[in-house]
Amino acid sequence: MKPVMHNLIFPILLVLVASLAHAAGGKVTDPNGTAPDRYVYYPGTEDLAKDEIRLFACGTGLPAARRSQAATCWLVELGNGDKFLFDIGTGSMVNVAALMIPYDFLNKVFLTHLHTDHWGDLSTLWAGGWTAGRTGPLRIWGPSGETPEMGTKYAVDHFLKSFNWDAATRNFVLSPEPGKITVEEFDYKAENAVVYKENGVTIRSIPAIHAGDGPVSFILEYAGLKIVIGGDTFPNKWYIKHATDADIAIHEVFLTPEDLVKLYGQSPGQALGVGTQIHTSPQAFGKVMSTVKPRHAIGYHFFNDENTRYDVFAGVRDTYDGPLSLATDNMVWNITKDNINVRMTVSPDHAWSVAGPKAPPKPPAKGSVPDPISDFIKAGRWNPAEAAQADMIKTFKKEHNMK
Ligand SMILES: [Zn+2]
Ligand SMILES: [Zn+2]
Repeated sequence: MKPVMHNLIFPILLVLVASLAHAAGGKVTDPNGTAPDRYVYYPGTEDLAKDEIRLFACGTGLPAARRSQAATCWLVELGNGDKFLFDIGTGSMVNVAALMIPYDFLNKVFLTHLHTDHWGDLSTLWAGGWTAGRTGPLRIWGPSGETPEMGTKYAVDHFLKSFNWDAATRNFVLSPEPGKITVEEFDYKAENAVVYKENGVTIRSIPAIHAGDGPVSFILEYAGLKIVIGGDTFPNKWYIKHATDADIAIHEVFLTPEDLVKLYGQSPGQALGVGTQIHTSPQAFGKVMSTVKPRHAIGYHFFNDENTRYDVFAGVRDTYDGPLSLATDNMVWNITKDNINVRMTVSPDHAWSVAGPKAPPKPPAKGSVPDPISDFIKAGRWNPAEAAQADMIKTFKKEHNMK
């Protein structure tokens, strides 16, 4: 029988090897000392070198919600300070928020496609970031579709329409600026065309084969490093060509057909269809990786549990024997020319937003935005509540020098 390694043990082993190289995990030399080396990443505690990339898995699961795995979301942090979100799938914002990065630094989102498990938490980033310190519009890059109604611009325009009540009521008390979204829609058929180029960072897109026309994958290049963020796709020729020699190659890998039958209630026919034709089977994922030969391969987009990950791992190992992470939420990779270090993030369940350097823009001047509450509704205010809080308000105003 083939030895099967736990997908968490593998990165931990890598970390161990990396740490042994300098301090064997470090030594605590007195009772008040702190451990010099870390096997985990604590958000906000480590500087990035200029030519370093930190990659987070903020969502690695499926459209059906589960607490342990949100749907697709990758956060890329660069040594120049730039940060990019690639997809923002349902539930992923809790993992993003736990990194306690000011919302002004989380204003660039690249969408691979418009399934909810890849952009379902846009509402949370949009409104949550608006109330918690983002000072300007969100910027979104996403693919066109075969027709305008199947493209990113249409989706975001109508997203804003569906949240009209939300925006209209916030606009009365908050600056409308952070509630705006700019969209840069690019041709989904373009092969390796530049969709973003600023500040030493280039992001290109390639087409993907998934569910309908429109989906893409992204290639980010910075400081001589190349990271490929694969969206949902059956293995495709564009990925093979342009992901070759990537430092990090992320690609979906799906549950085995056997597990889809056993655990997902699918018929054998459905399981083969979903697991080998719409998505990428473990063997096909392995073949992709042994062909493009990245420094490190990352597979995701399956429920990563004790009773699934060894089956996925064994399938991948049929066709690929290189460096591999089978990602689950909160895994983090530090990438430099010399080293790729894999750890788990340890972040708080009770994170608060952290203010950035810019002060939030001023709310609109009184009278400039129509009051969204009518006199009829206002007349329903229960006055004893006002009387009950009067003393507290008086004290608060005094303490804060308010009139
Ligand atoms: Zn999809
Ligand atoms: Zn998906």
